[in-house]
Amino acid sequence: MRRSCEVAIVGSGFAGSLLARVLAVLGYDVVLLERGTHPRFALGESTTPLANLSLERLAVRYGMPDCYRLATHGRWMEHLPELRRGLKRGFTYYRHHPGEPFADRGLDSERLLVAASPEDALADTHWMRADVDHHFVRRAVDAGVEYLDRTELTSAEIEDGSARLRGRRDGVSLELEAGFVIDASGPGGFLARQLGLPSGLDRTYTRSALVFGHFDDVRLMRDEAPTLQEGPYPDDWAAVHHLIDEGWMYSLRFDHGATSAGFLLTPRGLASMGESADTDGTRLWRALLERYPTIGRLFADARTMMPIGFVPRVQHRLTRAAGAGWALMPHAYAFVDPLFSTGIAWGLRAVERLALAFEDAASGDRKPDAATLARYDAALSEEADQIDLVVAGAYEALAHFDLFAAQAMLYFAAVSFAEVSQRLGGGDDVAWGGFLGVGDPVLGPLARESFERLRRITAETGAAGSADARAEFVEWLGRAIARRNVAGLADPARGNMYPVDFDVLMDRHALLGTSRERLLERLPALRGQGPEPTFAERPERLRAVTS
Ligand SMILES: Cc1cc2nc3c(=O)[nH]c(=O)nc-3n(C[C@H](O)[C@H](O)[C@H](O)COP(=O)(O)OP(=O)(O)OC[C@H]3O[C@@H](n4cnc5c(N)ncnc54)[C@H](O)[C@@H]3O)c2cc1C
Repeated sequence: MRRSCEVAIVGSGFAGSLLARVLAVLGYDVVLLERGTHPRFALGESTTPLANLSLERLAVRYGMPDCYRLATHGRWMEHLPELRRGLKRGFTYYRHHPGEPFADRGLDSERLLVAASPEDALADTHWMRADVDHHFVRRAVDAGVEYLDRTELTSAEIEDGSARLRGRRDGVSLELEAGFVIDASGPGGFLARQLGLPSGLDRTYTRSALVFGHFDDVRLMRDEAPTLQEGPYPDDWAAVHHLIDEGWMYSLRFDHGATSAGFLLTPRGLASMGESADTDGTRLWRALLERYPTIGRLFADARTMMPIGFVPRVQHRLTRAAGAGWALMPHAYAFVDPLFSTGIAWGLRAVERLALAFEDAASGDRKPDAATLARYDAALSEEADQIDLVVAGAYEALAHFDLFAAQAMLYFAAVSFAEVSQRLGGGDDVAWGGFLGVGDPVLGPLARESFERLRRITAETGAAGSADARAEFVEWLGRAIARRNVAGLADPARGNMYPVDFDVLMDRHALLGTSRERLLERLPALRGQGPEPTFAERPERLRAVTS
């Protein structure tokens, strides 16, 4: 089987499929190659406001109403209820200690709740990836993408900015000539191996192992700790994080009752598990539940829906993200850790960037130019470093809950400032804007400074430091984010519970360089309550690009 196309995309996760579809909308001849078949299991389920804003922008720009409807829980339920999802109202954190049940100490509880939306209808979601990725593949095919699943690629050569891919499909050999190739194959590193791209892992700090599964009948934290003070949203309808000495656990509940959960363990944490720390995920899982009684109770009657998996190290990183004739999607280029749920938002941002690059090239070379690819490469490199520093800082901060709650504010300040700025407008520049404070003179340098301060406190041994040192860090962090703090974060009076607070936002209009009146005018957009856009079959602007 021989074929040529303009763009070949390797890997049909949401990133590959969405980009393939957008390029088909732009009039490109696209082939999407997948090793497996859909529906298939995938990790990486929890979305964030920035992810959903990307989805909305893609929907509006390229005429894809389903993407707009998948961007809030309410619209999703109304229009696509057959795709399984979970309600995510915010980010919930509890600190557990070995052998002790989680303690309700009122406002002094080691509990942090940060709302990401003001109400259920506007909330983010957890994606059941088997359903959502399958949906995006089908829509890509509807848009004209040629989709080849069960395809095992064996080689890729790039010469003079064009690619030749070889492989097998159903026992038949396949040869594909493509003007441009995009690797969306995730951590498998297909193109990296073919092009001999060196690893860049040694420039990163975060290291964690993963034990994970999908479960039925996981109990609610609210039922295990019923006296906890009411928070800004129901604790369990969130990305729930259980912080432990060895790392942390995520627990994401879907509306139909299933839960995706996994422990991320530091090298020191994994080593402390002694004999359980072999490659048997089930043994490690059970040992961790035994060590932490409240988590143990949450999962006491849980049934595993798949064998518990174990990955000794989840991080990977390459040294280049693009070159003449090729580009990597973020998950193929680098992965840090699920902490702070950066993966989907970052992946969708890259879909936007590459889509714009191909849009610009549509009436010329039909592939992104060298300057755009260099910009893409530089953006991903800086952003991967930034994500690593914010997450590595949070791992250091696990030494004491006060440190962790403060470090989390760095992440929330960056994303809430970006979210509000994006909701206020911004045009094409938004897609190229730096992720997680990259390029921002205030937030940009903070990730490294915070990480270094934390390392001094913990002496890189997990020590909690002195009460004075911790108080100083908390105070410093609050001051450091002040010029971007539009959400009233790092406020001791809040008792670690942060609702979406439009009054604070109005009061802090000057931080956004705007007036109270203009903010008030934009309130429906800020609340995510604007009218549904009209989706032309072929948006007017694109007709010009693609004709
Ligand atoms: C434990 C864990 C939890 C996470 N939680 C979150 C979270 O809560 N929120 C969040 O935003 N992010 C999270 N992430 C990150 C998230 O998983 C990724 O950002 C996301 O999956 C990237 O999607 P993708 O479409 O780029 O790639 P993938 O989902 O990795 O899809 C890659 C596709 O390529 C195919 N493929 C692989 N190799 C080949 C090949 N050689 N040829 C053809 N096809 C191939 C695969 O079969 C697959 O279909 C998490 C990651 C991990 C590890």
